[in-house]
Amino acid sequence: MTKDLAAFAKKNGVKYFMISFTDLFGGQRAKLVPAEAIADMQADGAGFAGFATWLDMTPAHPDMLAVPDPDAVIQLPWKPEVAWVAANCMMEGGEVAQAPRNVLRRLIVEAAGEGLYVKTGVEAEFFLLTADGSQISDPYDTAEKPCYDQQAVMRRYDVIREICDYMLALGWAPYQTDHEDANGQFEMNFGFADALVMADKHSFFKFMVKSVAEKHGLRATFMPKPIEGLTGNGCHAHVSVWDAPGDKARKNMFATSSGKGPAGELGLSETGAQFLGGIMKHATAMAAITNPTVNSYKRINAPRTMSGATWAPNTVTWTGNNRTHMVRVPGPGRFELRLADGAANPYLLQAVIIAAGLDGIRSKADPGRRYDIDMYADGHKVKGAPKLPLNLLDALREFDRSKALKSAIGDEFSAAFLKLKRREWDSFVSHFSNWEREHTLDI
Ligand code: ADP
Ligand code: MG
Ligand code: MG
Ligand code: MG
Ligand code: MG
Repeated sequence: MTKDLAAFAKKNGVKYFMISFTDLFGGQRAKLVPAEAIADMQADGAGFAGFATWLDMTPAHPDMLAVPDPDAVIQLPWKPEVAWVAANCMMEGGEVAQAPRNVLRRLIVEAAGEGLYVKTGVEAEFFLLTADGSQISDPYDTAEKPCYDQQAVMRRYDVIREICDYMLALGWAPYQTDHEDANGQFEMNFGFADALVMADKHSFFKFMVKSVAEKHGLRATFMPKPIEGLTGNGCHAHVSVWDAPGDKARKNMFATSSGKGPAGELGLSETGAQFLGGIMKHATAMAAITNPTVNSYKRINAPRTMSGATWAPNTVTWTGNNRTHMVRVPGPGRFELRLADGAANPYLLQAVIIAAGLDGIRSKADPGRRYDIDMYADGHKVKGAPKLPLNLLDALREFDRSKALKSAIGDEFSAAFLKLKRREWDSFVSHFSNWEREHTLDI
């Protein structure tokens, strides 16, 4: 682990550090600091006016200091003279309670106090668009069922290969890339890790994909539903809980020795079933965080897409190896939460999963019955399972109503998040749209 950033710079030829933090809306904010100045910055942090970002501060607040976490430094493979380093937000000697990386770190400490160490892998889908973002960059990528399209993935080989080469060089253990279910859409998978490490990698992945796309004259987007009628950008999270962090992990506490568990024949241990129970219990409120934008609700609950399926959930149900439900248990020892989309804040995504899961374990939550049906065709047969929120306002209200989830993820964070997101909703509904004119003019 890197402890001294100045020494890291000397050893690796780094000229500038990008001290980076993520705000409540998932925006990555940074200052570029020359290596000559990094020693002081490592000790004291880089100063920011918090009000100028989405953190619910006023212009009168004192300076916020972003203190780099030397364990989270990554040299930019496409510009090795720069190193990105994730930072923790501090103010007047204390942690900024609502800053996403702090929210996650606090939950990780809480889980560790109960002997639980969450590991996750994320599937951050993205589209490659033209530089202005107006259309799919490959004009020949028009198949009705474009998933795994061999010809189309090769037309974007230069971009994909560059990103994959970088992940190989960073030791992220990438293992596959494919063309996804929408025209212009791709997914690149890499090895799972401890929740904080994954949140940092997820943030860096987005930065890297956007940067490499720009280098090739393209625009990458993780927007949940960038193109009407096509499958949207999911950000599935695979989750397991271990007995220790990092390399010290020995036992997957979600697995049963027999590979079978109380949750039917799916191989989730009692701990796994209870953690899942927490996710099921809080799903409709969690959506405010896993699906945090107006556009998010054009992905979940969407009508059929051109390819035949949205691959996104609409109801709070779980199942075995079946991709039409909110949670899928693809094999023993882990589950896949398919709810989140590309707009999810990498830190808050992990934080809300841990918050809901811990609450599930503490309350011995029952995940309910498993459904082995095609939710798109037969979802109406499910009685009593909650529907996911239909829009951002519904999700924010659900979250606000859930005292348990709000306090599990942090009351200060929850208040700040709700305040800013409500304002965003208000801005959306006050926008005068063409749709209104088209549907109302002649009434
Ligand atoms: P799928 O498309 O079938 O959902 P992918 O292969 O695209 O699956 O992604 C699977 C993700 O799950 C990867 O990020 C992988 O590292 C991660 N993963 C695999 N096993 C575990 C586990 N035990 N705990 C957490 N994440 C896991
Ligand atoms: Mg200034
Ligand atoms: Mg996948
Ligand atoms: Mg996918
Ligand atoms: Mg998946």
